[in-house]
Amino acid sequence: MKKTFDIAIIGGGVIGMSLARALAARGAELALFDASVSVPPATNAAAGMLAPSFEHGHGGDCVSEALYHFGAHSLSLWPNYAAALEEETGQFIDFRGDGALGLAYTEAHANELGEQASRVAARGGDASIISGDDARAMEPALSKEILCALWAPNDAQVDPKRLLIALRAAVEKKAVQLFPEKVARIDVEDNGPRCTTFSGEAFSARKIVVAGGAVSGLVDAGLVFPVKGDATAIEIEEGFLTRVVRAPGAYLCPKAGGRLVIGASEEYGRDGDAVDAKAIETLQANAAIAAPQLKGSKELERWTGLRPGTPDAAPILGQTDTGVYLALGHYRNGVLHAPASAQEMTALILDGEASEYLESFNPSRFGKDKALQHG
Ligand SMILES: Cc1cc2nc3c(=O)[nH]c(=O)nc-3n(C[C@H](O)[C@H](O)[C@H](O)COP(=O)(O)OP(=O)(O)OC[C@H]3O[C@@H](n4cnc5c(N)ncnc54)[C@H](O)[C@@H]3O)c2cc1C
Repeated sequence: MKKTFDIAIIGGGVIGMSLARALAARGAELALFDASVSVPPATNAAAGMLAPSFEHGHGGDCVSEALYHFGAHSLSLWPNYAAALEEETGQFIDFRGDGALGLAYTEAHANELGEQASRVAARGGDASIISGDDARAMEPALSKEILCALWAPNDAQVDPKRLLIALRAAVEKKAVQLFPEKVARIDVEDNGPRCTTFSGEAFSARKIVVAGGAVSGLVDAGLVFPVKGDATAIEIEEGFLTRVVRAPGAYLCPKAGGRLVIGASEEYGRDGDAVDAKAIETLQANAAIAAPQLKGSKELERWTGLRPGTPDAAPILGQTDTGVYLALGHYRNGVLHAPASAQEMTALILDGEASEYLESFNPSRFGKDKALQHG
């Protein structure tokens, strides 16, 4: 078995896979370790909203200017990224660049949406308030109780499960060597870094990147921690809704094949794979307030996932003082951020170039020496 590589990536979610694809396209010889059998990727739990407008200021966090612009920049990469990935692999990923609607039923909701529109406009984004009738003209299934809506024409969506299948196919085509193994530790020695799997195999690489999501066991738990989210999918007729709808207490994301993804709860610091039945009931009830014909629809599945949270809700992209690279902590927006994260990390790893985004998201903002558990 080959045990020496140019670059080893730890983690095969959307962030690790996108980075592997980008690095392999530049000719790097790569190993990718992924423990998805024991640690399921958050990517498969995501709704796939590509939503810098709606996410800006979510829950009082995600407010930084750099984070908004990083999300908007990544969104601008998405149409070409999706088209190239589909072309390369022949896999349909259900990318839809048809905007998103946020609903208000009360004056209080309307005020919140107004503030959101102003926040986005202040950053140079496009978000406006439209009437309930205009929202229903776009999506006739929506409730007549809607007072007004926030219309974000540039927000988009993709199907994350299809995306991950396509990314995997892309990296396999590029001869990235995939190891379905969990990495137990990273050691940085004089002759370079080395990672060792739980089965005891050691691999060396000139550069190692940790992209292991919320619970890799390799990064200080105060820096990247799980934020558990439950979600569900119900059956709809194709075309019942066409675009993302963000209602009070639930978002609704129509996917190909008559599947409507409804999400999501949010519990800080919680991990585990148990789905909270009460949270699912509440999400389904809130979805049926937004689109009343959904009441009683057949549930297809329910699941939970662990978002990789960080203390300031922004990703951690860069290099620690031990030389190990981190591509972590994309929290609620890893699918949105994947193209830009891969682009920025590739420039850093292969060319030593750090853009202003990387300066904002550098691990040193938390104290470099604390970043790695092992190193
Ligand atoms: C309910 C829910 C809804 C979401 N909705 C959206 C959305 O609409 N839009 C959006 O942009 N984002 C969304 N997110 C967030 C998004 O899913 C994450 O930000 C993103 O998936 C993080 O990707 P990642 O590659 O960093 O981590 P992951 O997808 O978690 O992948 C990490 C991988 O690393 C592997 N791994 C971990 N440790 C090791 C190790 N030591 N050795 C080897 N392998 C290891 C794991 O097995 C896993 O496969 C949502 C998340 C949840 C939970």
